Amino acid sequence: MRPFIQFESVSKAFGSVTVVNALDLAIEKGEFVSLLGPSGSGKTTILMMLAGFERPTQGAIYLDGKRIDHLPPYRRQMGVVFQNYALFPHMSVAENVAFPLEMQRVPRAEIAERVERALDMVKLKHLKDRRPSQLSGGQQQRIALTRALVFEPSVILMDEPLGALDKQLREHMQLEIRELHKRLGLTIVFVTHDQSEALTMSDRIAVFNAGRIEQIDDPQVIYDTPRTRFVAEFIGETN
Ligand code: ADP
Repeated sequence: MRPFIQFESVSKAFGSVTVVNALDLAIEKGEFVSLLGPSGSGKTTILMMLAGFERPTQGAIYLDGKRIDHLPPYRRQMGVVFQNYALFPHMSVAENVAFPLEMQRVPRAEIAERVERALDMVKLKHLKDRRPSQLSGGQQQRIALTRALVFEPSVILMDEPLGALDKQLREHMQLEIRELHKRLGLTIVFVTHDQSEALTMSDRIAVFNAGRIEQIDDPQVIYDTPRTRFVAEFIGETN
């Protein structure tokens, strides 16, 4: 049987530049996997291919045993959270969360119910009538997460979601996302260039260098026994 998420020899080139190179990657259901590496190492491109915003040049991507790399984003059942969480300023929190459901013409009564449920999951129901400008950065990021959860996706993709927050808030949100991951049994693929963030949050870390995985292991193993000089140096930078 295939793993829950599988990249099978996936490459991606932009013009003559190959940014992801024959990637094999397997992620199990319920895992929290970080893609860690310096800027330009291909992490976002991998996430974009998983979400359906980019197509592989070669190879195949499977979700739950089904090949998905030819499917449009809306047929992939994934929630996506970016650093620039892009809430609509003129809409309330509830309207922001409802927006993706309205786009898919979900019936009005069901939308209301699902928005309530999603806001309840992140304990933000009391803020539902506020505008984004009336929320803190952390609250805005939680709303962006809620908008990703409203489809009740089995996979959440996060691209540097905490990059814009100050250190204290970032650490708080790391714990919150971790807790949500456990409580909801989500599979999370998390892109970061921050070693300590990957080490604290992940079940496994894939360390990227120039479009290839240098090492994929538990945080402890990566930390204690880096397999290449690149991994040792990259992990060592914050320590
Ligand atoms: P990371 O997320 O690790 O910073 P990216 O996946 O964003 O890396 O980028 C990997 C490389 O691919 C970079 O050199 C980037 O400039 C290039 N790249 C990404 N998207 C495009 C695109 N749409 N067109 C051309 N080059 C791109």
